[in-house]
Amino acid sequence: MSTLRVVQWGLGAMGSGMARLVAGKEGLQLVGGIDTRPEYVGRPLGEVLGLDTDLGATVTDDPSSVLNKDDVDCVIIATTSWVKEQIDDLRTILSAGINCVSIAEEMASPEAQSPEAARELDDLAKANGVSIIGTGVNPGLSMDTLVVALTAGCLEVTSIEATRVNDLSPYGPTVMRTQGVGLSEEEFLAGVEDGSVDGHIGFPESARMISDALGLGIDRIEQKREPIVSTVRRETPHITIEPGMVAGCKQTLLGYRGDEVVLTLVHPQQVLPELEGQGTGDYITIHGTPEVSMQINPEYAGGKATQAIAVNVVPRIVEATPGLKNMLDIPMTGALVGPSAYRRRV
Ligand code: NAD
Repeated sequence: MSTLRVVQWGLGAMGSGMARLVAGKEGLQLVGGIDTRPEYVGRPLGEVLGLDTDLGATVTDDPSSVLNKDDVDCVIIATTSWVKEQIDDLRTILSAGINCVSIAEEMASPEAQSPEAARELDDLAKANGVSIIGTGVNPGLSMDTLVVALTAGCLEVTSIEATRVNDLSPYGPTVMRTQGVGLSEEEFLAGVEDGSVDGHIGFPESARMISDALGLGIDRIEQKREPIVSTVRRETPHITIEPGMVAGCKQTLLGYRGDEVVLTLVHPQQVLPELEGQGTGDYITIHGTPEVSMQINPEYAGGKATQAIAVNVVPRIVEATPGLKNMLDIPMTGALVGPSAYRRRV
């Protein structure tokens, strides 16, 4: 396969990292950058990314000026978490006849919460002969794709538990607010009620991916968001948490088949968990034959993993048959270490 030309849409914390990765990968070429930030628009893309080359492109806030299918093979979009906020931009990309990778959490399996949008995107992609996928560390890898991969050698699976314990301290003010960090317990609970505390976005999508892939038959999910109240002082560049304040959000999903819980997902996210003796990690247990137990310590680093998987999947989604895909529909994605990774295998 020849060099794949990539446009990065959204040059924030994740998108700028992806763009730098694309710019440095053999077999990929960064040909454009889109963002609405006034301080970026009109400046050389390489300069905005802190590279010592201008990459021959300037950052634009006008997608139509760069989305030409003769010049672009794939757009990676990193702008928001929600299908309803991203769908207009996804329509623009697919209608231009260009493949798309999104890291919006709800795009990992849009069938889970936006079935009409999922059908529309599938139809639009097929009509334009391209494909679209949602990915990221979670959803997209650590609590769904890895879970399904571990069951490949099981004679039978009765139930599954996956837990991801991570540290929120590298993240900025938006994440602190949406996770309820720094609130009192009462404020946190009120925020969950009024929707201002989101917690983790993506559990319904992970559950849908796992259930569909294995035929697990989940017919109902329940989600719970609980405050993690600190007993010690915790301080990051963005926030200071005094004892008694909320340091994070523990989110739990139960997936039922009838009355039976067949899937449990647990995701306690907090700043500096080690200050209370809590290490980070990813833990998956498959109950069945054989029993399978996996742990990754410390956690699979979320920011780096999201940037990497969005880039590593580009050749897969360019090669894929047209339509809406998820990470379990396409051949297994690995790191793009050398040019042989681009060889078509299916
Ligand atoms: P960020 O706020 O740092 O960056 C978003 C960028 O997109 C900003 O520069 C903003 O100006 C730009 N933008 C927003 N809407 C735009 C539009 N319509 N057109 C052009 N530019 C636009 O956010 P981030 O940390 O880079 O994360 C991006 C999204 O990805 C978040 O919603 C985050 O929750 C999600 N995410 C998902 C995963 C996953 O595992 N699936 C992992 C990390 C982040």
